[in-house]
Amino acid sequence: MTPSEEEAERKMRFLFQIRSRGVTDAAVLKVMERIDRGRFVRGIFAERAYEDMPLPISCGQTISQPSIVGLMTQALEIGPRDTVLEVGTGSGYQAAILSGLARRVYTVDRYKQLVRDAEDLFREMDLSNIVAITGDGSFGLPDQAPFDRIIVTAAAEDPPGPLLSQLKPGGIMVLPVGQSDTVQSLIRVRRLETGFDYEELRSVRFVPLVEGLANE
Ligand code: SAH
Repeated sequence: MTPSEEEAERKMRFLFQIRSRGVTDAAVLKVMERIDRGRFVRGIFAERAYEDMPLPISCGQTISQPSIVGLMTQALEIGPRDTVLEVGTGSGYQAAILSGLARRVYTVDRYKQLVRDAEDLFREMDLSNIVAITGDGSFGLPDQAPFDRIIVTAAAEDPPGPLLSQLKPGGIMVLPVGQSDTVQSLIRVRRLETGFDYEELRSVRFVPLVEGLANE
């Protein structure tokens, strides 16, 4: 096989795995085919970028498992005019996937270094509708709120109040909740005209949502 044939086969296997784990939305699959996960993983783990598993990134964090990225994105039901907030930039991979479906994406991480690295990648990949910000995402982004969609990629015990209040009526938030280091539940919250509707999607395992800015 030539290198380009090998790459095509790797990509096909990557998409097959994601699909077999329940990611069926055509638009989501199309973006996941286009955004190369290999760009977001560095060093010794780079060669495993096309396997359906979480991998370590810098600052002791992780890039999520691609099928979970797909399932969470699908659960958000993003429309082309939506403004999305992501809490937990990490490698930037999830934000890149969101950017292919939404009008604008704000992504926040408590590590300056992760935000800087992700910004470099967004620039190189021409993903110009993403704004990456260093901050404590559990308070959301009051200046940019409200949001049509919110995704949290770190686990809190409960949905953070500021995020609930920054969700538009009719808006959707997807997040893992539960004690850190145990199995958490991925939940979908819909903001109704009066109140919220909660739905449990599946069990997941994420790094914890930590308060305050990191020192790196
Ligand atoms: N979505 C990422 C994976 C995120 S890992 C990707 O696609 O690669 C979880 C991230 O949440 C980590 O980078 C961690 O630093 C960040 N995080 C944890 N608590 C946070 C908080 N309070 N505010 C912002 N980011 C937070």
